[in-house]
Order: sequence, then C-alpha cells, then structure tokens
Amino acid sequence: MSSLGNLTVLTGPSGVGKGTIVRKILDSYSDVWLSISATTRHPRSGEIEGEHYYFLEKEIFQEIIDKEGFLEWASFSNNFYGTPKKKVIEKMETGINVLLEIELEGARQIRKSFPDAFQIFLAPPNLFELEKRIRGRGTETEESIRDRLATAKKELCAKKEFDAVVINEDIEKAFKEIEGLMRLKKEF
Ligand code: 5GP
Repeated sequence: MSSLGNLTVLTGPSGVGKGTIVRKILDSYSDVWLSISATTRHPRSGEIEGEHYYFLEKEIFQEIIDKEGFLEWASFSNNFYGTPKKKVIEKMETGINVLLEIELEGARQIRKSFPDAFQIFLAPPNLFELEKRIRGRGTETEESIRDRLATAKKELCAKKEFDAVVINEDIEKAFKEIEGLMRLKKEF
C-alpha cells in the first residue's frame, strides 16, 4: 500500500472558483489526476461529455448508486453528482495523486471512507462577492442562483471541518496557497 497516491479534496460553494483552481493545478502538475464526476444536470454551453462531466439520465445514475459504483454522491440544486469509484481506486493504487472537486456532502462522505484524504475548503471573501461571481458566470437560472446561494450559506458554516481553509480573494494567491498546502501534505 506504500505506493498509494494521495487523495486531495477541493470543496467550497458553487461559484467560488474551484474549477479555475483545479485547471491551474492540472496545468502545473502532470502527476495529479482529476476525477471526472457524473451528473444528472444538463450540460452548459461548451461543456463536453467525459471532459467536464459524464452527463447521465437519473435512472442510470440511480443504477450506479444501487451497484455502489460511486465513491460518494450527493444531491445538489435538484440534481445528482457523484464520483465514479473504479477509476479513482485504480489511479490511487498505481500511486497517482487524485484530485476531487466536489460539494460539502460528498466531501463529508470521503472524510469517512478516506480519513487520510487532504481536504481543502475554498471560501469566498463574502457572500456578496460570491453572488456577483455566480451571476457573472451567466450559466444559472434565477432559481438556481438563489438555491446555490442558500446552500453556500450552509456550506460556509462547515468550513471549520476542513484541514485547510483558503479564501479566494485573488485567484493567483489562492492557487499559490493551495499549491503550497498540497506540497506540504505530500512531504509529511
Ligand atoms: P455545477 O453544477 O456548478 O457544475 O456543480 C455544482 C456543485 O457540485 C459544485 O459545488 C461542484 O463542486 C459539485 N460537484 C461536482 N462534481 C461532484 C461530485 O462528483 N460529487 C459531489 N458531491 N459534488 C460534485
């Protein structure tokens, strides 16, 4: 088991900038592998099957739940999201560092099944800024924006549960901080 790769979880409210940080990590570190999640939500314009998500019908998603095919899964903003189990385990067993970009409930499930996973919470400077970012993205309906903001309030209350909290005031600074934390975790 000594060659087992590290498992890092990046969580935080929708719109906080997790995706941007993840892309920066992947661009800078060729030894980090990002798990592509499955979801029942519809693809946004520009999203590609198998690259951004595996877009599944609810019935198929449920079948995978029943077969225990997810490492974790959660319902978020009226859709399901889950981490396919097999690939993550395969990657970790070959010593590859795995990164998960998931919401709070999923991160909690991972904490139970992988207590050694390193869990980082990315927080916005404040809720006003978060709302500005979600609206600025222009991808959500008004209902989804309200729902995501209400969830964000709850998620922010849970940040103390995490190994590290990084405030995304400035994306470069947040990335450097997360990079440093991931390196530290690897060394100790
Ligand atoms: P979005 O619809 O904006 O792509 O994602 C909504 C939320 O679901 C985000 O906070 C995102 O990090 C989270 N998410 C994406 N994939 C997964 C997953 O596999 N499991 C869980 N629990 N959350 C996920």
